[in-house]
Amino acid sequence: MATFKAIRIDKADKGTTAALTQFDDAELMDGDVTVRVEWSTLNYKDGLALTGKAPVVRRFPMIAGIDLAGTVEQSSHPDWKAGDKVVCNGWGMGETHLGAYAEKARVKGDWLVRLPDGISARDAMAIGTAGYTAMLSVLALEDHGVTPKSGPIVVTGAAGGVGSVATAVLSKLGYHVIASTGRQAEAAYLKGLGAAEVIDRSGLTVPVKPLAKERWAGGVDSVGSTTLANMLSMTKYGGAVAACGLAAGMDLPSSVAPFILRGVCLIGIDSVMCPIERRKRAWSRLASDLDKAKLADITHEIGLDEAISYGPKILAGEVRGRIVVKIV
Ligand code: NDP
Repeated sequence: MATFKAIRIDKADKGTTAALTQFDDAELMDGDVTVRVEWSTLNYKDGLALTGKAPVVRRFPMIAGIDLAGTVEQSSHPDWKAGDKVVCNGWGMGETHLGAYAEKARVKGDWLVRLPDGISARDAMAIGTAGYTAMLSVLALEDHGVTPKSGPIVVTGAAGGVGSVATAVLSKLGYHVIASTGRQAEAAYLKGLGAAEVIDRSGLTVPVKPLAKERWAGGVDSVGSTTLANMLSMTKYGGAVAACGLAAGMDLPSSVAPFILRGVCLIGIDSVMCPIERRKRAWSRLASDLDKAKLADITHEIGLDEAISYGPKILAGEVRGRIVVKIV
């Protein structure tokens, strides 16, 4: 019986358990491509799955991990052959399909994106779903017509994964980035990523007015709740906010005022089921618009055996930037 190393999530009497163990090849799910996973990463959602804090895992047993990068081992899909370097984000991996914290994954070839030139498997996971979501958010603002000339862009949860990559990319593109963080100790880190201003996130948790003073042309929000409502009420006429996260909550105590009186647009960002062509566009833009030195600065590496212990840390907002998980 062939087995491989994996972090397995099982249902328990109360909640779930997570353990690094051997997984049986025969238990791999359907798919036309088998990938030797080399690197994965730790996202907020991985923290939820590892700790069982939210019902992210919807099939048991599950292998945790929503992101992988590695090399195709076997393929019956016309686009892929052994040796191809690939990245895969979301599509239910780690939720409904066996995931990435494992030496091996079997997935659909239609889910895969070829690693762009200049992006290694490790780089791809330093970016991960968080960074690719940051790029989807930037693309959404651009598609709305927001440019560096439109005015400042606010990034919330700036010292987190999505926020760090959004800050780095937007500043490289020439935007005046206002980074909002609860960790003032990370101000120098955020300035190093290119933030022009660092503001305290408490300024965005004040009682929400239907319309407040116009402060920015747009924003990338990974926080949700009152923060997103305040971002909207402070967005300039015709601006746009890309909403991708809920670190502070799923609610949105807003009004229609920013939409109907200032023509502000709220753009939803989903990375999990995002169509493949948009993914390719995002990965290609990450290759050109994310400074490699900055990516290295925001990245911290851990082993597969450490991933479980990092779950509570990311949920507690204690992780700065991005974590890569070395699988082999
Ligand atoms: P991180 O934990 O790395 O970053 C989240 C950041 O949000 C923290 O670092 C912190 O930033 C801030 N934050 C945390 N708690 C609070 C709070 N209570 N109030 C205000 N700010 C808070 O997570 P990721 O960057 O990986 O993910 C961010 C969010 O985006 C998550 O909610 C995640 O689920 C979501 N997400 C959604 C995706 C999609 O497809 N739509 C894809 C990827 C992520 P600071 O210390 O700077 O204030």
